[in-house]
Amino acid sequence: MSRRPPRPQQPAEAAAAPVSDGDPCPCGLPASYAACCGALHRGTARAADPEQLMRSRFSAFAVRNDAYLLRSWHSTTRPPRIEFDPELRWERLEILATTGGGVFHTEGTVEFRAYCVDRGRAGHLHERSRFVREDGAWVYRDGEATG
Ligand SMILES: [Zn+2]
Repeated sequence: MSRRPPRPQQPAEAAAAPVSDGDPCPCGLPASYAACCGALHRGTARAADPEQLMRSRFSAFAVRNDAYLLRSWHSTTRPPRIEFDPELRWERLEILATTGGGVFHTEGTVEFRAYCVDRGRAGHLHERSRFVREDGAWVYRDGEATG
């Protein structure tokens, strides 16, 4: 087989959040989504450091919150929009290393592995992301694949 069957056109399904407030947070911390990354997504809490922002962005990919992803992206590297692949599900995040991110720092990095299921097949992304402060808030600037 060299061709994929045509994709169903169901944008409403892609927008549905697969995680509700009482569920365990997708980022893997032992807290409910509402008490963890959900508070950042709602705007009632701010990321204290790059790791927390990284976790909240992973969770935003998991619950398909494009508004949060865009607002936590540096203004110079932010894409015009984010389109989620309805057949790709983000499952688990593993933080491997962090640098910077202290109270007096303006930059930091987070190296992580993010595990997904893409069309029924397990995969992962290994990246070192760079974060900077913009107007006092930590935002994602860019990242490099680390193999
Ligand atoms: Zn979380």
